[in-house]
Amino acid sequence: MSPGAGEAAHVAPREQDGAAADSGDSGDNGVRGVRLSFGFGSDRGLRRELNEDSFLAADPIFAVADGMGGHEAGEVASRECISVLSQQQVLSDGSRVATAVDLQQALRQADARIREISNARAGTTVTGVTLVEERGVPYWLVFNVGDSRTYRLSQGTFAQVSVDHSEVQELVDGGYITPAQALVHPRRHVVTRALGTGSDTEADFWLVPVEEGDRILVCSDGLTNEVTDEQIHRALSTLNHPQDAVDSLIQSALRAGGRDNVTVVVVDASNVDGGDAGATLENSSTVSAAEDTLPRMPRVDVAPNVAPDAGPDAAAAADEPSQPTPSNHPAGLADGPEPSSDEGNYGDDHHG
Ligand code: MG
Repeated sequence: MSPGAGEAAHVAPREQDGAAADSGDSGDNGVRGVRLSFGFGSDRGLRRELNEDSFLAADPIFAVADGMGGHEAGEVASRECISVLSQQQVLSDGSRVATAVDLQQALRQADARIREISNARAGTTVTGVTLVEERGVPYWLVFNVGDSRTYRLSQGTFAQVSVDHSEVQELVDGGYITPAQALVHPRRHVVTRALGTGSDTEADFWLVPVEEGDRILVCSDGLTNEVTDEQIHRALSTLNHPQDAVDSLIQSALRAGGRDNVTVVVVDASNVDGGDAGATLENSSTVSAAEDTLPRMPRVDVAPNVAPDAGPDAAAAADEPSQPTPSNHPAGLADGPEPSSDEGNYGDDHHG
């Protein structure tokens, strides 16, 4: 089973290299100097008949959706989600002006579309990142619904930015099990939030400053259930070209059993603010001082492992538009476990 972009429904340009993806020098809407290069791939895996993952890799947005529902319903749900995202004017053609409000509207639209075509029998996770600009400063706007994941490797630090909407994540948050126990917990595949089905569909958002050399990983659980974070970190740290990292990670998931569809998108940022880190910090202060001009962003939080030199001002600016939360965990999770009525819908479709 060779990895590649052949199987999953997706939207991606033929040329995924930096030269084609670059729009950083465009004056009007581009983040000054930031260049994105990226790779992508999706594989059905070794056990599944269909690939129900879908993805989008087109500057400025990179997203992975993992459909659930069985008998092609999941495939339809994830594809519809990606289709809606790809049709957003604000996310098209190298534009870097999107806000969390724009994304939330798009995800609500996707949720409604999936319900319409599947009678709420199918759902999908979706996570990813879009490059945005706030008063000249580049940020990763990370979004998540469900248990697909967005990670960031920045200045040598590798961390998961998104927080899973899953039963085991809630058990970890409550101190009932450890993260290690979550990896082998029998209900580890039960998702507590999704688009297209269930009652909880709101996305969480994080606004993270873009640092020179940042590498973003967006993936479905077909990777993270087969390959440890340590293995992922090693691959991302050692393979220079994003497509090589994608191919290696997919192969690792297949070698580990390939029990689920696996989709991987890797995005690299370079030439951040022309490589002038001092200017980034200066501009971040400007953002902080001008908070009244920032868009309102629901549930925006700051990733837990922003590099120490990212600048406290940048973090403060990112946090300002949101309701403050004490940790990386969005407010929604503090409401306690979800009613069990919704859970079976998601859990049954994941492999057990
Ligand atoms: Mg999956």
